[in-house]
Amino acid sequence: MNQEFSTYQIRVIGLVQGVGFRPFIVRLATQFQCLGTVDNRNDGVIIQLNTTENGIYQFISAIQTKAPTASSIEKIEFKKISPLIFQDFTIVKSYNNPITDEITEISPDIAVCDDCLEDIKSQSNRLNYPLTNCTHCGPRFSIIKALPYDRTNTTMSVFPMCVECKREYEDIKDRRFHAQPIACSHCGPVYLIESESIISREITQILQKAAAWLEEGETIAIKGMGGYHLICDANSEGAVANLRSIKHRDGKPMAVMFRNLETISQYATLSNNEILALRSWRKSIILLNMYKDLPFSINRGLHRLGAILPYMPFHYLLFENCKLDSLVFTSANLAGEPTIIDETSILTAFQSKIKAIVSYNRSIYNRVDDSVGVMINDKFSLIRRSRGFVPSPIRLPISVDGFLALGAELVNTFCLGRTHQAILSQHIGDLKNAETFEFFEQSIENFKRLYKFIPQYLVSDLHPDYLSSQYAASSHLPIIKVQHHHAHMAACMMENGLNESVMAVIMDGTGLGTDGTIWGGEFLFGDLVDFKRFTHFRNIALPGGDQVAYQPWRTAVSYLYDTFGRDFLHLKIPFNKKIESVKAIFLMDMIDKEINSPLSSSAGRLFDAVSAILNLCHQAQFHAEAPMRLEDAILGFKTEKYYPYNIDAQGVDFRLCLRALVEDIIHKQPITSIAAKFHNTVIEAATEVCHAMFLQTKIRKVVLSGGSFQNVYLSEGLIKRLESLGFEVFVHQKVPANDGGIALGQLGIAASRMYLKKI
Ligand code: ZN
Ligand code: ZN
Ligand code: FE
Repeated sequence: MNQEFSTYQIRVIGLVQGVGFRPFIVRLATQFQCLGTVDNRNDGVIIQLNTTENGIYQFISAIQTKAPTASSIEKIEFKKISPLIFQDFTIVKSYNNPITDEITEISPDIAVCDDCLEDIKSQSNRLNYPLTNCTHCGPRFSIIKALPYDRTNTTMSVFPMCVECKREYEDIKDRRFHAQPIACSHCGPVYLIESESIISREITQILQKAAAWLEEGETIAIKGMGGYHLICDANSEGAVANLRSIKHRDGKPMAVMFRNLETISQYATLSNNEILALRSWRKSIILLNMYKDLPFSINRGLHRLGAILPYMPFHYLLFENCKLDSLVFTSANLAGEPTIIDETSILTAFQSKIKAIVSYNRSIYNRVDDSVGVMINDKFSLIRRSRGFVPSPIRLPISVDGFLALGAELVNTFCLGRTHQAILSQHIGDLKNAETFEFFEQSIENFKRLYKFIPQYLVSDLHPDYLSSQYAASSHLPIIKVQHHHAHMAACMMENGLNESVMAVIMDGTGLGTDGTIWGGEFLFGDLVDFKRFTHFRNIALPGGDQVAYQPWRTAVSYLYDTFGRDFLHLKIPFNKKIESVKAIFLMDMIDKEINSPLSSSAGRLFDAVSAILNLCHQAQFHAEAPMRLEDAILGFKTEKYYPYNIDAQGVDFRLCLRALVEDIIHKQPITSIAAKFHNTVIEAATEVCHAMFLQTKIRKVVLSGGSFQNVYLSEGLIKRLESLGFEVFVHQKVPANDGGIALGQLGIAASRMYLKKI
């Protein structure tokens, strides 16, 4: 090999900004005794160095194997360039490459690292300093306004560094070398507690007061990485019930922050992968099956609990000062509205209702909620993709450049396409809420500016009433409309790198079908361009239209009427005692006269109906409560049994299932067994349809998508059955199976159609 020194230029593309990448390169160059430069450009990290041919290969291999934890390298390119002379190895000033508008990635926010936790115990200028961070940890996406990722482009720009911080920032050997949000107690942002009795910026006092009030059962608000949280003692029913009433929380389960893994394991048995997910630098809320109950008001009788570990220095300091091992940890918002991120709003919304508000004066620029995940077959699967994940791109099998997909309506996210990457927004929420819609519009503007993104095409759902569709309609750009369940199917294909013909089982709440009816229990086949509806759950009337989503008892009446006729009211089942027969008769009349009773094949509504028939949930207090309670009712019960069903030209017909299920209720069979047998029936029916679809299409790849697949029992059961028949099954992990993943599918379909000019 050539041992002569030449000048090489290396370009590293991927998540390499804001994760300590340049300092890492400097340390590596020092180790390799290479002279040169490294800089951040909007088209990647560029390294120029003098080395031998052998040296360049070793250097690149070291980049790949030793890169910082939170980085992720997509591609490394290198070339020999005209010889340059260097005196040392330095980081040169970031500049925007005017030739290309390709951008590098922006890091998600990173939980505080162990070294920084150590520093707040030992470094004199960081003792108990709760905004300590380094190149391996701290805020990123939440504080960034523009690229490149430099302090001046973040909300830290208003805090000049002190001499000590500047020294660390400029010292290659220091862990804070070029840590953009670097701060210490001398120069950085500070915490502030505000209550009726005290206003203080003294951290010891803030911690002592907050801890004492929490121990007394009070609620306080604390500013987190991407928004405020409300917290209280998770072991006090009184405290939790009080917090719930303050928040007007609609019965939705609340997450709990535990002191450490040991304290979580007092409530749940953790698998290795659950431990890894809990401890990961992303620090998401992980849904766990609890064997020991926390107070009823936390999750109102459900056995699954969202658990999270501390991820900011303040969280650790608070537990150190507090006797409590677990705190309710829920985002501070009024029901339906986005999480509060600024001090004025938190004071207006909560000051009069809670004991104290703990803030700090570094602004949150991008609101970002806690992410939520659950294990399916012991693999981490996202339910809400936000902090720790956003805005990392998802690499795709096709180019999606210039498309902006606007998502659906509930649990909205949007998605922009840059070359072969999808950049999915953080969880936005339900667009029907005016403040949330404003957050949607603002975030689109933020992403456009951040990524210098100019959309060429907009992609929206077929449903004209969705506010995301209306947003598209109000623009002057060409719009591509995508059917909701095709988008679900494509979302699962995109994240699994599939660009071919597949079969899809979509079990979902509702979405507008191509025939004008409401779909939701769909068996499709096709590709990213087009699809065919093989069959679906047999249509059922939804008396009351949209109202049924929160009133499962209505769908239950419709299913029972459909199965037994008006005589169902004489069945000796507890459901009939709980409903008013006058109202049921009224609903049946509505169905007969086709008044506000749209037909739907929704899977979610079938789960709703069965949950209500079992008296588990008549009125849902939050989205998808009834199916959650139905799954929860299984309680680990094991059975292979299932009820009969029928498949004919009208679709998958569950009337036989309901007859047998009602028999079981009459014969006082345990609810655990009925719930399990019902789930097994859906699994069995779906498997039979897949087999029939295979005979027609000869396709062996099946994607599972739609909100119902957040149901772990349903997902695991169907995967197992389909795999036992030799199908290759693909599920969601990187994006949610619910409508939070829709935008990714919309993007893929629109780009594929454009590519093939089938629009
Ligand atoms: Zn750190
Ligand atoms: Zn400082
Ligand atoms: Fe959906």
